[in-house]
Amino acid sequence: MNAQKLPENFQTVAQAAAPVVSEAKRSRAALGSNTKPRNTAQKDKRKQAVAPAQKASARLARWAAKRKAAELVREVDNGAGVRLSKCGYCAFQSSVTLKQVTHSDGTVSGSFGGVIACGNVWACPVCSARISAERAAEVNVALAWARAEGLSVVMLTQTFRHDRSMPCAASIDAIKRANSRLRRSRGWRGLAHEGNIMATEVTFGDAGWHPHLHTILFLRGDPDAAEKAVEGLRAEWSRALSYEGLTGNEHAWQVQPATAAGEYVAKFGAGEELTLGEKKEGRNGSRSPWQLLADARDGDGQAARLFQEYAVAFKGKRQLIWSRGLKEKALVDETREAEKAADEAEAPEPVTVRHWWSGTREWCEARRRRCALIAAVEAGTDLNEAEFGPSDAARWRDEVNAAQLIEGESDE
Ligand SMILES: [Zn+2]
Repeated sequence: MNAQKLPENFQTVAQAAAPVVSEAKRSRAALGSNTKPRNTAQKDKRKQAVAPAQKASARLARWAAKRKAAELVREVDNGAGVRLSKCGYCAFQSSVTLKQVTHSDGTVSGSFGGVIACGNVWACPVCSARISAERAAEVNVALAWARAEGLSVVMLTQTFRHDRSMPCAASIDAIKRANSRLRRSRGWRGLAHEGNIMATEVTFGDAGWHPHLHTILFLRGDPDAAEKAVEGLRAEWSRALSYEGLTGNEHAWQVQPATAAGEYVAKFGAGEELTLGEKKEGRNGSRSPWQLLADARDGDGQAARLFQEYAVAFKGKRQLIWSRGLKEKALVDETREAEKAADEAEAPEPVTVRHWWSGTREWCEARRRRCALIAAVEAGTDLNEAEFGPSDAARWRDEVNAAQLIEGESDE
């Protein structure tokens, strides 16, 4: 569902990039931290807001970025790169289908069945969007649980002072080591703590790699006291950093209230921010990995090397770390299963509109037009024209050229 947004709403995970949160996302965040994570009315409203042409354009950009990611990762990690290349293109069974779902509000969506997904949450823009959406839903369950339990939610962001000399992997290791030290400290263990969820992120800016940890803490006691208690550990973080030979300024330890946690979860999932590559002015000099990828796709060689460094540094790392026992306490798995069952019960049956035997020439040709085929399903246009028309790569080149033409005109 994250894969179906307006390009204008594309956001960054990086706090530094000061993202604009869309109304739809805000309301979802609010729902997540208040009552039920989602309802049908919300979903229908969102779908109506996205015109098929905009969706198609965003999809084309995402798949173009995925092709670039596969090419870049293959150069530094062949196995992971090949999996990325196969994602969405290779079949895991003898046949592949193109399915059409007509939703209760009349909108139509298309999808392929029978193709593999690489599951690389760090380097695959397609899988990242899907997986992050599911993980955000899980965090929303925990936020709702905290509310029901009368717990206070605090959002903590940790970082340290860094410069261009520090490689991505080393900066991630350093912040994690300092954080382990902090968590062993008496101050941290003294928090009235019911659990936490931590995300590791990195951006690249003027001062090099900027690693940061975002932690949502669930604490007993009233919100003011909870925030104060976490704020009180600032000196403990400085101490932990200095043990690792690091320092931090006042931004190295940021404590924010529950609303910040809700907003963070609403924009969690970075796959959709790819088209920020087209909006370079909104960046504050700091680029998320997806922005690096978008720049690499646009021919920026330094961005390409940085994306490769990032992909290698983050390989095998967990996107979210839940403190022990929190998922069980908050009944996250049970709640998500019930939510998915309810979603399925209200969803209409998909209709198979095309079928290919995998490994055939027909499929090899069709898959190079996978975005065109889905766009045709969603717009209700001729499937034959899509299947035998220009490839996605050619269509993407046309889009880029058209965009450049428009930019050139506005310069005059
Ligand atoms: Zn993938």
